[in-house]
Amino acid sequence: MFDLVHLWVIRQLTLGEFSSRRAVVSKAALMAAKIAVFAYLLNIVGHLILVALGLLPYPLGPALVVATMLTPPVSFIVAVIAYSVVGLAIYDLGMSRQRFEMLSRTDMLSGLMNRRAFLDTFEQVRGPVALIVLDIDRFKSINDTLGHKAGDDVIVRVAQSLTHALGEGATAARIGGEEFAVLLAGPRAESASDLAEAIRHAVEDMGFEVAGRRISVTVSAGVSEGVSELGFSELFSSADRALYIAKAGGRNRIVHAKHLADASPDASYPTVSHAETIPSRLTA
Ligand code: GH3
Ligand code: MG
Ligand code: MG
Repeated sequence: MFDLVHLWVIRQLTLGEFSSRRAVVSKAALMAAKIAVFAYLLNIVGHLILVALGLLPYPLGPALVVATMLTPPVSFIVAVIAYSVVGLAIYDLGMSRQRFEMLSRTDMLSGLMNRRAFLDTFEQVRGPVALIVLDIDRFKSINDTLGHKAGDDVIVRVAQSLTHALGEGATAARIGGEEFAVLLAGPRAESASDLAEAIRHAVEDMGFEVAGRRISVTVSAGVSEGVSELGFSELFSSADRALYIAKAGGRNRIVHAKHLADASPDASYPTVSHAETIPSRLTA
């Protein structure tokens, strides 16, 4: 019985979490109203006990009038201030935690998910999945010839093209320096090769310019399909092997792991898509 009452009181007085400052104030007012009623009842009961014991030093009537006029408003004001101060502190802490959580899952340069968030998302998926692992071609030469800042800009632009090609709700991440990954779950997994191809086209057509000169930027990608129960490592290494073959095959192309059975980097291998390798980065 005591435990039940204890639980009920805790539930009545606990602030919980808040979605906005307004919610804090509303909750504080509700709590304060409950406390005002509780304080008023205690005051009345206290007076009645004093009367019963013959200890009340003044008449009960005026005492109850004073108790009614003072106890509810005073206890309400004190409680609303106290709850608001504590509630706002809880709200601010919650916002900081959410912001920290969001930052710890986001790649700061591209704005995409980072590797950790991508892995977490994969862990939550069940059933058919496809992974696309993309890598910018000859990215080192962009850094070497145009500088690290231009390299960073290329990463950002490729991330934008990727997001644009995938549309809303896709799971895309920057998982390394100039390496990206896309997770497709459910029926979307079947269109992984088409989507990879759409991304490859989007990057090729995005038109990146530095100092008025158009720079050719391309990506290669490896695709793997399966069920999430196979595990991330298994699917990722298949896609990564396919990516390796795409690079070895001349870059700016997509290779699906299902075509790799016995292929080695030197062997001739089938590709889902095939585009001419651009001989030079500076195309105009
Ligand atoms: P490949 O076509 O075989 O992928 O050749 P690559 O030059 O793209 O690959 P490589 O692994 O040789 O070079 C990747 C370079 O990416 C090396 C590294 O300095 C650079 N890099 C990694 N992270 C960043 C980054 O955040 N910004 C910039 N600007 N460069 C980065
Ligand atoms: Mg790389
Ligand atoms: Mg690369």
